[in-house]
Amino acid sequence: MEKIKYEKPVINKISAGVPSKFGLPVKQKIISDIDGIKVSTLMEKYGSPLFVISERTIREVFAEAKRAFETRYPKVQFAWSYKTNYMDAVCSIYHDEGSWAEVVSGFEFEKALSNGVNGSQIIFNGPDKSETDLTMAIEHNACIHIDHFDELYLLIEISRKINKKARVAIRVNLDAGIYPIWDRFGFNYENGDAWNAINRIMLAENLELIGLHTHIGTYIMVSSAYAIAASKLANLYMAVHRKFDYWLKYIDLGGGFASKNTLKGAYMPGTETCPSFDEYAEAISNALISSEIPHENLPVLFLETGRALIDDAGFLLTTVLANKRLNSGRRSTVIDAGVNLLFTSFWYNLGVYPSKEMSGGAEESTIYGPLCMNIDVVRDAIVFPHVNTGDQLVIERVGAYNMTQSMQFITYRPNMVLIDMEGKTHIIRKKESLETFKQQELNPKR
Ligand SMILES: *Cc1c(COP(=O)(O)O)cnc(C)c1O
Repeated sequence: MEKIKYEKPVINKISAGVPSKFGLPVKQKIISDIDGIKVSTLMEKYGSPLFVISERTIREVFAEAKRAFETRYPKVQFAWSYKTNYMDAVCSIYHDEGSWAEVVSGFEFEKALSNGVNGSQIIFNGPDKSETDLTMAIEHNACIHIDHFDELYLLIEISRKINKKARVAIRVNLDAGIYPIWDRFGFNYENGDAWNAINRIMLAENLELIGLHTHIGTYIMVSSAYAIAASKLANLYMAVHRKFDYWLKYIDLGGGFASKNTLKGAYMPGTETCPSFDEYAEAISNALISSEIPHENLPVLFLETGRALIDDAGFLLTTVLANKRLNSGRRSTVIDAGVNLLFTSFWYNLGVYPSKEMSGGAEESTIYGPLCMNIDVVRDAIVFPHVNTGDQLVIERVGAYNMTQSMQFITYRPNMVLIDMEGKTHIIRKKESLETFKQQELNPKR
């Protein structure tokens, strides 16, 4: 029999049977498998750490969002926000579900084209669109969402030069009760810039105004903010009709729906506080159908929701490297996945769970990553069971913004694996190797 490892004892206060403000203590949650595949099997095959994406969850959450909107509004079109997760395997699932592509750079535009998206079904957002990017977008008949006046004038110039009409919308920033207002993007509604931009576009013969866009922020926890945004865009939509006798094609309310992650400093868990797709859909559809817009002229409603669709589908599997008692007496656990892979750990209290039942009590701990950097804290305060070196853990809700923003640092970035609808696993991005770097690096001869 193996001797049990010695750990310095600690004294914990036990409040037996007394409910805390969150009710009675709950049993430690464990995640032993993902879509029926054991965590240990996945890690044995693909290594540690390991990103895992569940196709089943992607499709189920998408179906839920689609149902919420399509039962409340007649014309809905989703566009997948590439920057949220632009693994080709992931984008392809959204395109298969009928989503267009929403991109914010020339790189993402090219990625969408290479994923087989028709140029006219690419929404091109963002403040950085070079002359080359805009030319490509016009040639592919993309929906170009203009961010600022300089871009508007550049578009007029390019569309004249190549003698081709550009299909455009404007991004509008507005006061929807969410502060600070993201007024660095697009044209302001309240000060008249948005209306001014619309007039300039209507005057430019090579620009065809097709829609209005806003993206009021991210992780918006009040659905009523979208109602305010939708009514303001509806006002502009009607103003265009009144002045130019012209109906725009769409209103795009952007993304920003909250995912079920828990923000740092939040009192209640995100699963309890984040609005459902039904609540967002109710707010938006109410505002549009009860606006001045005649029902036969209602615009198509575009949605670019990112994090709320994919966060739940992503997991990061990781291994315990060591446990340490800090000088303060606090327990700490070191794992093999650092904040360089978990960009969202800077603003969420990510859920970290053992993959098997743990004996012994839980204790408030800190979970550190493997980087030789003091900022590498995956969870600064978590009540966590006593895990041992080699134990496998699962970090949940990491589908949004971690794969795309993960940063290479001191070691290779890990494999990314997709579990398909039949429970088969596929590598969707290979682990880096020394070769990855050799291909890109040049060392001048001296
Ligand atoms: C990032 C972004 C989105 C997606 O935002 P989420 O908060 O992930 O839903 C949508 N539209 C635009 C313009 C964006 O920049």
